[in-house]
Amino acid sequence: MARTFTYSGSPAHIVFGNGASSEVGTWIEKLGCKRALVLSTPHRAADGEALAKSLGALAAGTFSDAAMHTPIEVTEAAMAKATEVKADCVVALGGGSTTGLGKAIAWRTDLPQIVIPTTYAGSEVTPILGQTEAGVKTTLRDPKILPEVVIYDPELTIGLPVAMSVTSGLNAMAHAAEALYAQDRNPVSTLMATEGLRALRAALPLLVKEPRTLEARGDALYGAWLCGTVLGAVGMALHHKICHTLGGSFDMPHAETHAVMLPHTIGFNAAAVPELLKPVADIFGSAGGGLYDFASSIGAPLTLRDLGLKQADLDRAAGIATQNPYWNPRPFDRAAIRALLQDAWEGRRPQD
Ligand code: NAD
Repeated sequence: MARTFTYSGSPAHIVFGNGASSEVGTWIEKLGCKRALVLSTPHRAADGEALAKSLGALAAGTFSDAAMHTPIEVTEAAMAKATEVKADCVVALGGGSTTGLGKAIAWRTDLPQIVIPTTYAGSEVTPILGQTEAGVKTTLRDPKILPEVVIYDPELTIGLPVAMSVTSGLNAMAHAAEALYAQDRNPVSTLMATEGLRALRAALPLLVKEPRTLEARGDALYGAWLCGTVLGAVGMALHHKICHTLGGSFDMPHAETHAVMLPHTIGFNAAAVPELLKPVADIFGSAGGGLYDFASSIGAPLTLRDLGLKQADLDRAAGIATQNPYWNPRPFDRAAIRALLQDAWEGRRPQD
């Protein structure tokens, strides 16, 4: 088949290495900034304070109330703090929630962002912001949202609990799996997605056995960068739509929901595009069943029931997930999604 594609590179600086987070000050100065507001979640407030202390005069203050799904009230409080301390850039230290807060500030102010990710969610390399107002989550895409600098330091992920490492890693893999069949995929996104899946396939079982192995932590974070990059570069489909629905309308936990849904959505689409999902089959043995066996072998949650979703909610979830038509490689109707959700709720192994 004739090759036709559009490739647009992401303009961010990516800095990767053990101890690389000690370079934050240098990067603040390279961006032409002098007064950083350091962001974290309440849980990681001490790390935010320690980072601010190490930055000396380059840190103008800290804000440690970042929360899941970027609530507007939290963003407004952080904006007030940024104004109060005359911040000229933000440094987000943490997972997708902290990154989301930095993006929300940047979208409103165009302040430059430096992100130091400590999970595998991948938000740091996308121009996408999801935020919540009065319980409704909306998503927007803008070049202003893409962080200017991302510093990946595997040493900072050593303490990421095993359960969170597993679900966050599967969350990253979901970006790569859907990138393989994206309509706007290109040869580079496919290479990155495949390498990201390979890196996480190798790293996650090692992390489960030895959570403090720096080499495996490095491989997982490297995989997360690749998977996040393709999330930012190409369009997602059924899997992300269902997870967005379950997170937004049923308050299901982000990474865990991705982890449970992944084998089911990818198995469903493999029936339509087996060639495009061949990298998944090559790496995991098969698409749906292979991903399920892998998730099971590393102790991932396997049922929506265990995550707290009620069976009575499945009808409504299928309705919301199929409300607005969107592209997916395999056509579907409400009944098909209802059946898929039932399988995920029960944790049934997908057919190969
Ligand atoms: P998170 O950022 O909420 O982190 C979960 C918890 O783990 C928090 O309490 C955090 O403080 C803690 N934590 C983080 N790193 C840790 C570490 N190294 N050690 C110990 N504890 C640590 O979770 P997440 O899954 O990274 O992010 C989820 C959020 O990111 C969701 O709101 C999701 O919508 C968003 N997201 C956005 C994009 C995008 O492109 N816009 C992509 C992926 C995820």
